[in-house]
Amino acid sequence: MGIHAPGKDAARLTFFALHALQHRGQEAAGIATSDHGIVNIHKGQGLVSSVFNEANLSTLTGDFAIGHTRYSTTGGPGLRNAQPQVIETLDGPLGLAHNGNLINAPQLRRELLERGTGLQTSSDTEIMVHMLAGTGGDWLTRIKVLMSRAEGAFALTILTRDAVYGVRDPWGFRPLVIGEIDGGHVLASETCAFSTIGARLVREVEPGEIVKLSADGVRVEQGAVPKKRAFCTFEQIYFSRPDSVHGGNLVHSTRQRLGRELARESPVEADLVVPVPDSGTPHAVGFAQESGIPYTEGLIKNRYVGRTFIEPTQRLREAGVAMKFNPLGDNLFGKRVVMVDDSIVRGTTSGPLVAMMREAGATEVHVRVACPAITDPCYMGVDMASPDELIAGHRTVEEIRRHIGADSLAFLSIDALMRALETDEGYCNACFTGDYPFESERFVQLRLSPKEQFARVWGD
Ligand code: SF4
Repeated sequence: MGIHAPGKDAARLTFFALHALQHRGQEAAGIATSDHGIVNIHKGQGLVSSVFNEANLSTLTGDFAIGHTRYSTTGGPGLRNAQPQVIETLDGPLGLAHNGNLINAPQLRRELLERGTGLQTSSDTEIMVHMLAGTGGDWLTRIKVLMSRAEGAFALTILTRDAVYGVRDPWGFRPLVIGEIDGGHVLASETCAFSTIGARLVREVEPGEIVKLSADGVRVEQGAVPKKRAFCTFEQIYFSRPDSVHGGNLVHSTRQRLGRELARESPVEADLVVPVPDSGTPHAVGFAQESGIPYTEGLIKNRYVGRTFIEPTQRLREAGVAMKFNPLGDNLFGKRVVMVDDSIVRGTTSGPLVAMMREAGATEVHVRVACPAITDPCYMGVDMASPDELIAGHRTVEEIRRHIGADSLAFLSIDALMRALETDEGYCNACFTGDYPFESERFVQLRLSPKEQFARVWGD
């Protein structure tokens, strides 16, 4: 999130917007503001509501602000890696909030260390902060140099003395949008943040663009030559909030289309369509509409337990599932159920849910998944780092069906996925296909474990 809101409480607007973006990360949250060149920052571990209060928000004065909610991809979940990261430079303060993951972070890290730049964290965000600080020229020039060196996913908001910049990588992996608010402008990962603070969507930041928000208004420059567009399909399937808009389409509507495609492709005889709430709900509605099978709730989700997928360890994820769902026995008893989920990543949730439904009296449980089987890790900002963790990485569909105890199991095909997205290009599908949008040398490197990558760079 980034904002220039002249005469307004930029930090408070950022605080509300971060609430809307809470689903993107629950490990830490932070806001940095610039008040005539004095930077104020507050960040902490946990949810936005627990990190901020009236007392600390009131210290965050200034018309310019950037904010972040974190879940870790590169670097651990601790406070050290919380964002925004802010340093002092010869040209004034510099703050940065990053959504994504740099695939060449080990090389960039080594270059900085060789130049004598000390690093305090294990995150790729700190690398970018120091690359910006250590390059000559104005901020626009420095950002362009950074864009020419960084590879991978980076949607950034950058805070300086008198401006906020938004940057989107040349592939456009992660979303970034520009909005207008009462004489000011906003940048955010998703449009749902705009709705919360009364901002109006202007447009997406295009791949390779730099947007500058300042007293002169909005200035947009092409900071890097766009590559073949590779917007993350998983944002549409799972990650983004359903009330956000991507590519002109409401995410909720896209997810209903995914469910309809799934029903056409993998029909099943059943009495009820039941979603895995909340993320599987629109897909299940679409499945029910297309199949004509009645839709009902069969699982109640405890809304006070966070998203299991983005918890940082497997142990926390497993504990999360048991705390998170309870079955609705009256709805399920004696029924043949189609359980519709948006995706199966590690398979941590599906098996216990199928068992829960059977214990509640369902006579059959058929699982339908509104995206293709995830066979390959993501290196572009979604935490699927280890191939061993992916249930479809080393099992056939039949083996997964047995593993989760379902009567039948089907995943959406890539073709159907693309039909639902109403396009056949412009998306990254690497976690379903293993076809990464990078050159072969980089791809070889991606296949190495982080330890092997570091060994390559450090030569031992
Ligand atoms: S690999 Fe999958 S999760 Fe990662 S950017 Fe591509 S589509 Fe998104």
